[in-house]
Amino acid sequence: MNRKKFISNKKQFDAEKEKKVLGMKISFQKYLLLPYGFLILFLSFFVSLSSAQDKKFVVVIDAGHGGHDPGAMGKISREKDINLGVAIELSKLMEDNKELKVVLTRKTDKYLTLQERADIANDNHADLFICIHTNSSKSAMAYGAETYTLGLAKTNANLEVAMRENSVILLEENYQTKYQGFDPASVDSYIMFEFMQDKYLDKSIEFASLVQRHLDRNGRLDRGVRQAGFWVLHRSACPSTLIELGFISNPEEELFLNSEYGQKKMAQAIYSAFLEFKKEHDKRNGKPNSSSTLNQISSNKSEDVISENQNNYSTSEGQKKIEETNTSNNTIEEKQKENISPSDQQPIFKLQILASKKKLSPQSNELKELKSVDYYFEDGLYKYTFGAETDYNKIVQLKNDLSAKFPQAFIIAFINGKKTDVKEALRLTGK
Ligand SMILES: [Zn+2]
Repeated sequence: MNRKKFISNKKQFDAEKEKKVLGMKISFQKYLLLPYGFLILFLSFFVSLSSAQDKKFVVVIDAGHGGHDPGAMGKISREKDINLGVAIELSKLMEDNKELKVVLTRKTDKYLTLQERADIANDNHADLFICIHTNSSKSAMAYGAETYTLGLAKTNANLEVAMRENSVILLEENYQTKYQGFDPASVDSYIMFEFMQDKYLDKSIEFASLVQRHLDRNGRLDRGVRQAGFWVLHRSACPSTLIELGFISNPEEELFLNSEYGQKKMAQAIYSAFLEFKKEHDKRNGKPNSSSTLNQISSNKSEDVISENQNNYSTSEGQKKIEETNTSNNTIEEKQKENISPSDQQPIFKLQILASKKKLSPQSNELKELKSVDYYFEDGLYKYTFGAETDYNKIVQLKNDLSAKFPQAFIIAFINGKKTDVKEALRLTGK
């Protein structure tokens, strides 16, 4: 072994020895510190647990539009005023609940950008963000409530609502840079919502479904939980929904939504939905005996339930909707019976979901998710239908609800058991 090699070997030996000694020191210190580590961990767990229990549930209520943005215009009113009226009534109900911290994005007729509204929710660490709006349609006939969660619109009607609500962005200067190239008026801009992961979606749908159920109980037509690309929902980091209370373009609904009675009723319905949502939230977080239960009882009493018909089949879109359809078949059957009038000339609207050369078993893959499917035979085909409504709007709603599962479904009409042209049927119903 030459001297050079000896030196290099020795260096290596010394380095390894040093490493070992260092390792022993570190592990010795580790063992010494271990109990302290556990203590700190235990204390921080305890502190975070107790602070989580003390933390109030934060609800941010956003009255849509305001100031120089009136929102949709009715014959006698502006959307921004209806939204604010209901938001304030809702905040009054919530402020009485000591478990809640309630924040309104606006308390007066003030303009806020969509980003500012989402920022208020995020700055307050909202647990739930409720945006309140009023719908509008070219047809004065359209009526009823819809609740939206964030997602890609599956129908043009839903996309139109999002485009209208997002259009306030255009009132801002430099909106292209502020909103990262998002153009509220371009259909292409909405593709982004297809690929977006929303970790709050389940909770948002849960709350939205409850809102629809309670609005329905309070006399609003339940037009279902829907999805579309609303910027304000996209920017908030919590479960969030946008409620379209009803149509300002429908004279009757406009009157109702402008009345003190109507605004209180809408606020009460949203609050009842909230209490149910909060009860589930508490249960999940190990707080089963929250005072929400008590509030629920008192609120249900004052809710002045008009109808117990929960209209479950129309509360959600896509797969979730189909699942709910399964669990609420009794309701559907009852509804169908209710809606079939004894009058012979009364048109019945149905949804044709598929046609087949051979008769299908109710347990077949195509049909097993829907109970009470009916069929008629025409042109050598068994044509399967779902739903039976005298109200055309309801069958349109059912079609929208089932659009994910049966995108090809279309509406047909029968009078006195005979298939009739839908236009002719509508003429007979006076629509
Ligand atoms: Zn609006």
